[in-house]
Amino acid sequence: MRTNMTQQGILIVLSGPSGAGKGTICRELLRSNPNLQYSISATTRQPRAGEANGINYWFLSKHEFESMAEQNDLLEWAEVYGNYYGTPRRYVAEQLESGKDVVLEIDIQGAMRVKEKFPEGVYIYIIPPSSDELAERINKRGTDSPDSIKKRLGCASEELSCVYNYHYLVVNDKIASAVRNIEAIIAAEKCKVQRN
Ligand code: 5GP
Repeated sequence: MRTNMTQQGILIVLSGPSGAGKGTICRELLRSNPNLQYSISATTRQPRAGEANGINYWFLSKHEFESMAEQNDLLEWAEVYGNYYGTPRRYVAEQLESGKDVVLEIDIQGAMRVKEKFPEGVYIYIIPPSSDELAERINKRGTDSPDSIKKRLGCASEELSCVYNYHYLVVNDKIASAVRNIEAIIAAEKCKVQRN
């Protein structure tokens, strides 16, 4: 009998509707767990104020993104709110092989593609406490155009029904307790008995 403690790293996938606070949770999770590796996604979206290339995302042109996809350099990619987003394959593979746990913060389409390749990963869906709050959070952020907010809100209720494709649901009523729950999930996964 063995647990996952001595195996390759765990792949942790976080998704949730826009405005669920997953970005903040993810930042806090990484800040308090420096052993976790964050997979920086590639995107064709424009950087927001305060975002930097190689920190928040790899900001690419459409052409650069498409050639990465063609060369099979992306573990998954998806079009989200009119832009491309994708997970660079090599970084994830290298970290997992060297025993490090990797966090992906990606949308549902991407998460389901990753799940086909890594069914042993841990899939966590983060939701806000209520959809009113969801709308409020998206509006308050003030960094997206009204059109983009509308698109994001239109998607949100549909997205909520996807929760059953995930292993865990974390309600983000308070950032600190949502982070604690995710830490507990990761700790539990590490103690899981491997069946094969
Ligand atoms: P934002 O533009 O707000 O940073 O992200 C928009 C959406 O794209 C979020 O739901 C985020 O989780 C998702 N996203 C970020 N990176 C990736 C990625 O590499 N792949 C996929 N499929 N979605 C991503």
